[in-house]
Amino acid sequence: MENNNRRILAVSAHPDDIEFSSGGTLLKMTGKGYEVFLVVATNGENGFKIPSNNRKERIAVRKKEQMAAARYAGIKKVFFLGYKDGFLKYTDQLRERFVKIIRDVKPSIIFSFDPSNKIFESVNLHHRDHRVISEVVFDAVFAARNRYMYPGKTHSVDFFYFYGCDRPNYFENITSFIDKKIKFISFHRSQYYDLDSLSLWVKKNLSNWTKKYKYSEKFRIVKIKQPFITNV
Ligand SMILES: [Zn+2]
Repeated sequence: MENNNRRILAVSAHPDDIEFSSGGTLLKMTGKGYEVFLVVATNGENGFKIPSNNRKERIAVRKKEQMAAARYAGIKKVFFLGYKDGFLKYTDQLRERFVKIIRDVKPSIIFSFDPSNKIFESVNLHHRDHRVISEVVFDAVFAARNRYMYPGKTHSVDFFYFYGCDRPNYFENITSFIDKKIKFISFHRSQYYDLDSLSLWVKKNLSNWTKKYKYSEKFRIVKIKQPFITNV
């Protein structure tokens, strides 16, 4: 177990997933010395508030916005996997790409959509790409520590921080980070109409998970146990 490991791999299906779900927590952890690496699986080209019929242009805009947001948050590296927005599939190839990234980054913590949340209450939250990536990442963490499935140097992740969860077991107090979180989100200019309504919406609908804190983010934290075997 690498107790001094302060690397985080934050996984999103679309540009902005991480900012909305976990932006305050990641900014807070970055301030404590954590290094954040980000994976963006799809181009996000089919989620767009500003009309544009040019797909290439939409892809370029979202990539540019994500890079600006990542720079603001001090993210070390962004992995753009380049899949088509809305069409993500669970494939062995996608799992292998995640195994490679996990072994390369060697994170202690992975932020990812919660694979156990299948309550289908929201067409946004329970979007196909979110569901698919949550399972791929979960399985890639297993595979990354198995030298037989994918030969090479293995890596064991310590914790999942599942976001988008319906059964949270942890609330992060982001009260003093709420403005920074909104700024982090605001780089995704193609995703909202105006900053005031975005700010209000985040504060009213996305930050009130517990009465303990004025503004919070919610997670289901899972410690990844390694019973019986050690990986070499
Ligand atoms: Zn998304």
